[in-house]
Amino acid sequence: MTSSLALLGGEPVITHDGPHFSWPPLDEQSEAAVLRQLRHGISIYDRSGVIERLEDGLCDYHGVTHAVLTSSGTAALHSMYAACGLGPGDEVIVPAYTFFATVTPLLHLGATPVLADCDESGNLDPKDVTQRITERTKAVVVTHMWGVPAAMPSLKAITDEHGLMLLEDASHAHGAGIDGQRVGTFGRAAAFSMNGPKPLSAGEGGFVLTDDDEVYSRVLLHGQYNKRCRNELPRDHPLYEYAVTGMGLKFRIHPLAASIALDQLGRLDTYLNARARIAAHLCERLAQLPGIIVPELPLGVRASWYGLPLQYATNELDGLPVERFHEAVQAEGCREVDRPGSTCPLNLLPLFQRPEALFPGYAEKLNYAPGDFPNAEAIHRNTLKLPVWHREEDRLLVDSYIDAFRKVTDNYRHLLG
Ligand SMILES: *Cc1c(COP(=O)(O)O)cnc(C)c1O
Repeated sequence: MTSSLALLGGEPVITHDGPHFSWPPLDEQSEAAVLRQLRHGISIYDRSGVIERLEDGLCDYHGVTHAVLTSSGTAALHSMYAACGLGPGDEVIVPAYTFFATVTPLLHLGATPVLADCDESGNLDPKDVTQRITERTKAVVVTHMWGVPAAMPSLKAITDEHGLMLLEDASHAHGAGIDGQRVGTFGRAAAFSMNGPKPLSAGEGGFVLTDDDEVYSRVLLHGQYNKRCRNELPRDHPLYEYAVTGMGLKFRIHPLAASIALDQLGRLDTYLNARARIAAHLCERLAQLPGIIVPELPLGVRASWYGLPLQYATNELDGLPVERFHEAVQAEGCREVDRPGSTCPLNLLPLFQRPEALFPGYAEKLNYAPGDFPNAEAIHRNTLKLPVWHREEDRLLVDSYIDAFRKVTDNYRHLLG
């Protein structure tokens, strides 16, 4: 029996060479912004110039009191946890399914991460969180996976009931929200990344948001020592005497990176609205195919679409393995279809199975194993991730990705056996 599938020697659907997707969208306006900053100054020690403009812009966009820019999302998470007082003896409930940097800063602070499973959406399961609360639990950290907001109303109800801090890793969920409330504003503080592919990009960078003056002061003490602390900590703050050294870490963002992010922030909502249209189109078409389950957004939920996480249902294609399906769509030219690797259930990573070689003292606290988080592992195993384009001129490419998926699901029988 012959087949036209490219994996079996047929013609691929997509022959278009060159990158299919690139982010962030930089143009002459972005170049001019960077050049202006380059001429103006490339070291800023206090909250002035482009640092002040970007922090003010982030506060306005999110409707919060304080923003602190950092050198990365990882640094923002580290400062946020330190500022919230998480340390030895504290248990912090974190998603098992997240990017590892959601959790690794806690190890540097001596706190104990307690992993919790996700629900069928891939986000933290409120029911599993409840089961993992002990008298040592101090905080719950939420990631909005692939830019789809987690179940914040339920999670907030749980943390309120138990007197726990709610913290967000909104690293790739800029502009996402629930009923008009943006992610990053639900808990005591939130951390974001502005790394290259993130919806709001500085190339490298991050920030912390909070309405809490004390958290703000302590974020400054953690990673923004000397001038910012001297200028911004209240004179009568009990820790003012430490302003010069703070805690001795330097997590400042580069002003050129800040100038890129400031330029991008002005266009973020335009990009996100355009992504939402293309995501809706992809979901509408791909949902019709057997073996493909698309994410469903409850009414009132807005995603940032850092990626479009599809679930592959092997049972709908007579057991065709996900690896084989992935190979087949890649052979059709869909080079952007990804099975995420480093973003995986944390219990599959050596650091969370036997951390003691790198973090002495954690041998008893972290000894997870494969099989510990069945939902996260099943979701991870069956995830096929697409980028979400935003330009109208990409519509043809988007439709050829849909055609390629349909070609494989129409002809999957040739791949069996
Ligand atoms: C990107 C990301 C981080 C880390 O941010 P960096 O800027 O790369 O340090 C942390 N958590 C999540 C969920 C991320 O997507």
